[in-house]
Amino acid sequence: MGQTISVDVAVIGGGPGGYTAAFRAADLGLSVCLIEKADRLGGVCLNVGCIPSKTLLHVATMIEEAENASEFGITFTAPEINLDSVREKKDGIIKQLTGGLDGLCKARKVNRLVGTASFATKATLSIKGDEGEKIVSFKNAIIASGSRPFVLPGIPDDSRIWDSTDALRLDTIPKKLLIIGGGIIGLEMAQVYSALGSQITVVEMLKQLIPPADKDLVQPLFLKLKKRYQIYTDTKVTSVETDKTGITVSFDGPQKIETAKYDGVLVAVGRRPNSEELELGNVGIVPSERGFIEVDEKQQTSEPHIFAIGDVVGEPMLAHKATHQAKVAAEVIAGHKAAFTPLTIPSVAYTNPEIAWMGITEKEAKEQGIPYEKGKFSWGASGRALASGATTGASKALFDKENGRLIGAGICGVSAGEIIHEAILALEMGADAEDISKTIHAHPTLAETFAFAAEMVDGSITDAMPPKKK
Ligand code: FAD
Ligand code: NAD
Repeated sequence: MGQTISVDVAVIGGGPGGYTAAFRAADLGLSVCLIEKADRLGGVCLNVGCIPSKTLLHVATMIEEAENASEFGITFTAPEINLDSVREKKDGIIKQLTGGLDGLCKARKVNRLVGTASFATKATLSIKGDEGEKIVSFKNAIIASGSRPFVLPGIPDDSRIWDSTDALRLDTIPKKLLIIGGGIIGLEMAQVYSALGSQITVVEMLKQLIPPADKDLVQPLFLKLKKRYQIYTDTKVTSVETDKTGITVSFDGPQKIETAKYDGVLVAVGRRPNSEELELGNVGIVPSERGFIEVDEKQQTSEPHIFAIGDVVGEPMLAHKATHQAKVAAEVIAGHKAAFTPLTIPSVAYTNPEIAWMGITEKEAKEQGIPYEKGKFSWGASGRALASGATTGASKALFDKENGRLIGAGICGVSAGEIIHEAILALEMGADAEDISKTIHAHPTLAETFAFAAEMVDGSITDAMPPKKK
């Protein structure tokens, strides 16, 4: 048995949930150790998730903008893509950010351990790494062990069949790439590989792409992508076979789709929690059937001194949910009256156009029988959208019919992921359509379109056809 370290708080996992929890706990005066099995902090988000994907999406956007510039009288020649330099830039950004975390860790005197943690008892963790085993004795533990890609059964093990981590490595550009799963990862990666030259096919088992978002907001994206990709919705993959010449895939769906051959396949059908290695049985915590750890609003598990946060506690699996839950867990341990009770957690698909939504979607409002009033402003009528070549899009706002408050919003268009924050703040502050309409928005901006949607419900819109008399 190796050395024993005693701390107030042991944090398992160095992703956005884990490092935020460790830093907040240290800032609140607690002694903290942060255990991460990988050499680098940052978890999925910094290393193989949000940051590399957004870097590559920026590359895709630059290529697309150059293509579209001819609309404004500027013609560029076809881009020369140096894949090694693209990869180097992406890896450099990851290195800069993860290196920054090391500095933040040192500045807070957080004890960082490299190794795989599992619970030995209700008060000790065993950490197994290259240097043997260490024991951490803790007063409180925070589990932030995250998630990993879901593996579809029956898919052969072949280097040409990827998960998101493989796709982000950017080793090769397959000529024909099939993407299984028309969710956020699938569509973000489709955009990257399409810009880099792959012919894309997307197969989604449900009836629409990005199924949680409202169909009318996904439609502009769908119509644009349909011109460039083959898209099969409501369709399942029935077999995947590999040989030297490629990957042969068969489908089952309403359209008659021929068996087809691809050079690469990306499987992006969701993620599953990392809870197996933790030996939760030793502390009496029973994960759900799907492996998620149940917590209350203070992020406490069934063992009150053991907390869990981020992807390992369930959907939505988003970095900003993990960081907010992290702060709650650290603050509760420090004796603060904290709880994770947001009115909404926003979602953004960083596609082109982007799709962002928060609060209740229109389809949820209909399913739940919630009476609402809706304003929807098409970006085709926005001066700034026209001036920027960004007319594909719309901003939608839903208000509670009884108390008038904003209950949901969705935006499709360039920078939707930035504009949506106004709606989130409005929801958290209980704003109604008049509050938003009378908040002066700078002109000409894309953010104005959200105010116009609110003005439509307020009855004060002048940038569209006259409002209906109430
Ligand atoms: P993770 O980031 O998964 O970190 C968990 C860490 O725990 C890992 O580093 C793992 O090595 C470590 N670990 C696990 N078990 C142990 C153990 N037993 N001992 C020691 N260490 C352990 N979210 C967004 O909000 N916006 C985005 O744009 C976005 N883009 C994404 C793009 C892709 C391609 C992917 C895959 C995900 C994306 N996500 C995005 C999701 C986001 O990455 C996750 O929600 C977020 O990383 C979850 O943080 P976490 O701290 O819960 O877990
Ligand atoms: P997802 O759940 O968002 O999408 C998976 C899609 O695959 C769904 O539409 C689902 O219907 C479909 N699907 C499932 N099984 C299928 C099958 N057998 N055949 C065809 N389609 C199938 O999952 P994801 O895209 O893998 O992303 C995983 C997680 O990472 C999500 O929780 C997501 O929120 C997060 N993420 C977020 C961002 C972001 O915030 N921009 C980006 C990437 C990932």
